[in-house]
Amino acid sequence: MTQAIRPRAADAPEPTRTNVPTADSHDDTRTAMSSTTIRRAFLDHVFYTQGKLPGLASRNDLYQALAHTVRDRLVQRWISTAEAYLGQPSRTVAYLSAEFLIGPHLANNLVNLGILDEVEAAMAELDIELGDLLAQEVEPGLGNGGLGRLAACFMDSLATMQIPALGYGIRYEYGIFHQSIVDGMQVESTDTWLRHGNPWEIQRPELAVEVKLGGHTEHYTDDRGRYRVRWVPAKTVVGVPFDSPVLGYRVNTVNTLRLWRAEATEAFDFNVFNRGDYLGAVNKKVTSENLTKVLYPNDETEQGKELRLEQQYFFVSCSLKDMLRLLDVHGIPISRFHEKFAVQLNDTHPSIGIAELMRLLVDDHDMAWEEAWEITRQAFAYTNHTLLPEALECWPLPLFARTLPRHLEIIYEINARFLNEVRIRFFGDDSRLSRLSLIGGNNDFIRMANLACVGSHAINGVAQLHSRLMREDVLKDFHAMWPDKFTNITNGVTPRRWLVVSNPRLSKLACEAIGDGWIRNLSELRGLEPYAEDAGFRERWQRMRNANKNDLARVIREVTGVVVDPTSMFDVMVKRIHEYKRQHLAVLHIVALYHRIKSDPNADIQPRTFLFGGKAAPGYHYAKLMIRFITAVGDVVNRDPQVRDRLKVVFLPNFNVTYGQRIYPAADLSEQISLAGKEASGTGNMKFAMNGAITIGTMDGANIELRDEIGADNFFPFGLSASEVYALKASGYRPLSVYESDPELRAVIDLVRQGFFSKGDPSVFQPLFDGLLQHDPYLLLADFASYVHCQQDVSNAYADQDRWQRMSVLSCARSGHFSSDRAIQEYAERVWRVQPVPVSLLRASMAASARRNAQAGTE
Ligand SMILES: *Cc1c(COP(=O)(O)O)cnc(C)c1O
Repeated sequence: MTQAIRPRAADAPEPTRTNVPTADSHDDTRTAMSSTTIRRAFLDHVFYTQGKLPGLASRNDLYQALAHTVRDRLVQRWISTAEAYLGQPSRTVAYLSAEFLIGPHLANNLVNLGILDEVEAAMAELDIELGDLLAQEVEPGLGNGGLGRLAACFMDSLATMQIPALGYGIRYEYGIFHQSIVDGMQVESTDTWLRHGNPWEIQRPELAVEVKLGGHTEHYTDDRGRYRVRWVPAKTVVGVPFDSPVLGYRVNTVNTLRLWRAEATEAFDFNVFNRGDYLGAVNKKVTSENLTKVLYPNDETEQGKELRLEQQYFFVSCSLKDMLRLLDVHGIPISRFHEKFAVQLNDTHPSIGIAELMRLLVDDHDMAWEEAWEITRQAFAYTNHTLLPEALECWPLPLFARTLPRHLEIIYEINARFLNEVRIRFFGDDSRLSRLSLIGGNNDFIRMANLACVGSHAINGVAQLHSRLMREDVLKDFHAMWPDKFTNITNGVTPRRWLVVSNPRLSKLACEAIGDGWIRNLSELRGLEPYAEDAGFRERWQRMRNANKNDLARVIREVTGVVVDPTSMFDVMVKRIHEYKRQHLAVLHIVALYHRIKSDPNADIQPRTFLFGGKAAPGYHYAKLMIRFITAVGDVVNRDPQVRDRLKVVFLPNFNVTYGQRIYPAADLSEQISLAGKEASGTGNMKFAMNGAITIGTMDGANIELRDEIGADNFFPFGLSASEVYALKASGYRPLSVYESDPELRAVIDLVRQGFFSKGDPSVFQPLFDGLLQHDPYLLLADFASYVHCQQDVSNAYADQDRWQRMSVLSCARSGHFSSDRAIQEYAERVWRVQPVPVSLLRASMAASARRNAQAGTE
């Protein structure tokens, strides 16, 4: 599957070609960046790497060849970075995340290297359209949504800011499932992203590590009379790292994304347990390799899945052992682990790392508990991502004991010491003890969030509101214990991928107006503010946005067959499908508009194209029904001759980063309508705003800060606030009385309940609407009138295009706060205490002479 490891640049022979221009002053001839050199290198890769004559190469061959051409230029910087880090051993961020939703590599790397034009020219000389090759890339879908995408944005910002960092995660053989829509319903299929190979990774078998699982522990006294524990596992698997280079924007820093793949340990399986049972042994090998086969789609609850616990432990154990190896490479004693590594937990998924580092230090490295605990606590920091209590990870104790018997003992010990501290601090407060305990119920389950809080020196939420609710609600007992551990760092997104790569037209306009400093320092977009008052600029801005809308209209037509009017308002909601995000509220608004037109064909309705996209977890039936509701309403609306020229409803299947890059830049209206208090931050909201879409949103997550930055005049807020939600629920919310008192809402709901959108069959959407009328846990009915009213304000604003374009320019101009560079700067100062390490480019010839011992250069 993987490409053969190419010779390192360091081992490459001196270039002998004489007709290669030497215009590239800073660079080796072989990896020079002129279009001529790139073209030659590309043709070499078609021939030597793909093994094809150019005339016979498939489009995929050409893509692979170009990817390798670009990779060579990354590798040169990658090795330079490793050398720089080795020469200046500074603190390194280890970002642990079960998900990295990185998106396609090629275009991003061309932008960050600064060779987009050269490559385009090189391809053009060969009659190849660069766009065709870019379209060939299959994106690695190694994440579910926002959380995985955040990790990817952070990797980009870390490299751009020249901060030494390693991303550690799992190399899932199948990423997030592929979604298609059949008869209006979601159908899942496997995501075989590796089927054509992955030119962006290098396998490092020499850095493989062993991971134990299951079995039991044995307690004994060692020859020095000390109490010791030995873990006798039921099985071991091998973790093999696959490294991908993460290049910063126009710098030489290339950090590493190191993803682990599980393989079988042949010696163990074949010789010890399965002697004479060859097929049994092969079977065992297959079982081991299942560990990293598939990404779990995040279901309603994340509980009780054995393989998932094994996945989490597997990648965390591999990563910590890799960090210990790096300490060794750098000659740093293990007692200084926390000085070398700032380990960030992206949610609780990797929090077992706290117990694993304790085990490695105490059991494997003979360290005293107290010292190990100091090191662990100073190394780890935890980012909380959810306020939904059902999404806080808990592992059933029997499952945990079966999988990680030694870690259970360690967690008991951590808990006992911690609860002793609590007993003294909060004398006689037994209920507090049980709330804080790492063990829940009656010794029933392990609370991973509690483990993360106890074992970390810093705990952060991802937007101001979220951090406040975290302090006051989900983690309030920990906040009472350690207020100083808590901080907020509002999420951000990388402007490289979400503006420069995905919206070249906007980027060009911005660069012409204010230069290109905003690409590294997004707050410079403020320089665009005065242009909002410049009619000529507004006209160019509108043309740019229309061109993006035309592009998206073409994509929609190609994928769904639906023809949409690019002059209509593009009203967009793309994100995971979930009750708390309330896609069904957006649909109720569409039904309300439909009902208005049917009741009065001359009603003044702003033409809109409603675009939805997003995946529902395969086991989340309610969310799948929400998709069916969207497509069912679309079927009627798009067909009705009275309506279809004014309203269109499209569900674009398989929303992912690649589609996001087409969608965010083409949206007029950004739907951010979660129930207040439920969305931790959201990052889609930031991508839309940066690209000039106007937001209609609740006062939830980062929407609040977005409105503060963009200005209340340029934001459409509606709905209950988080505290109003709380008060309404406390006072006894009755959705039925809302239904009874609002004639439009009643008409809308009755239309659906009668089966109007389900060919007369009222049973299809009955589960949706029974829930709404009886409990309505996400307060759709309570927010309906406010939402529909606010949407009328949106329509009025859009009708005044001058006003709308002014708002759009301001939205972009004032979005600088939402760069992930700003977020990373805050983590670097307040949580990690890390400094940039600039990297200078090593020439291949210099690298050859400066080469160190064989261990070096793997960070
Ligand atoms: C940004 C992004 C998300 C997160 O969107 P939210 O609106 O914040 O939920 C999910 N999926 C993809 C592919 C994204 O790019």
